[in-house]
Amino acid sequence: MTREEAILRMQDIGCYNPDVVDHAEWKDGKIALRTADGKSFDFPADSRLDDFIKADDVKAVLIGHRFYSPDILSLELSEGFDFGSGKITILSSKNCIVRAVSAELNDLRSAGCGICTFCREGGFQLAGIIDAMMKPGADRKQLDLAVELSEAMMTSCNCPLGAETALPVLSALEIFRPEFEAHCGKGSCPAGECSAFSTMYIDPFKCTGNGDCIDVCPEDAIEGKPGFISMLDEFECTKCGKCIEVCENDAIRFASGRLPKLPERLTKVGRFRK
Ligand code: SF4
Ligand code: SF4
Repeated sequence: MTREEAILRMQDIGCYNPDVVDHAEWKDGKIALRTADGKSFDFPADSRLDDFIKADDVKAVLIGHRFYSPDILSLELSEGFDFGSGKITILSSKNCIVRAVSAELNDLRSAGCGICTFCREGGFQLAGIIDAMMKPGADRKQLDLAVELSEAMMTSCNCPLGAETALPVLSALEIFRPEFEAHCGKGSCPAGECSAFSTMYIDPFKCTGNGDCIDVCPEDAIEGKPGFISMLDEFECTKCGKCIEVCENDAIRFASGRLPKLPERLTKVGRFRK
């Protein structure tokens, strides 16, 4: 089957746009794919990832446990391209890279046998350092330490899993160092996903004043009344997220940095002006 035929077949059965490829590997000189919903495809060598993945907002591509920039999608894949564990995930601008690295580390650590001290202890330390970056207080020294530890794991562990554990950290840092630096020192999460660095607010143009959020807030951090734009007190809020779950209007948002202009007193829905 040619590349064009493979693309058409994928389109025919509605699998042209899987967010995640569950497994990709080389088989008999072809790329054998299994999509997240269990369908299988073969693509010839020299196909491109964007032959079978279409996404609008691509910040990073995670193949196995290695992070790539979006350019990888348009690269023709010659035989031998390393799919790692085979899973392909797309990260959008709303996904925090530090958080994604942390998830990969947890995944890899749970797969380790625990016999090799460097892998076991190194993985534990590395996960702790990365997790600390998602909270205020991390600095550049932690970033340097993560690099040092990852490089040591690349060469000192007894089996490839130890080196693989360092891969998400090193590959992500190669492309997204500024995002790590924002967490370590500037105390911000550019993607807005690390709630410890963000402030919550209620979008006055989306709130319909139905009060659902007020009813669920365990801290009484939201003020409002029927038909009025609700107001969230950031000092009372513990960022538990309960109000986000119930707001059908997607009005409760996170902001990293400056908040937009918000009402200073209770204001009727539709009356607030920028
Ligand atoms: S649940 Fe959403 S729409 Fe309803 S009052 Fe709260 S913020 Fe406004
Ligand atoms: S995140 Fe939790 S504490 Fe904060 S306003 Fe929403 S419900 Fe209340």
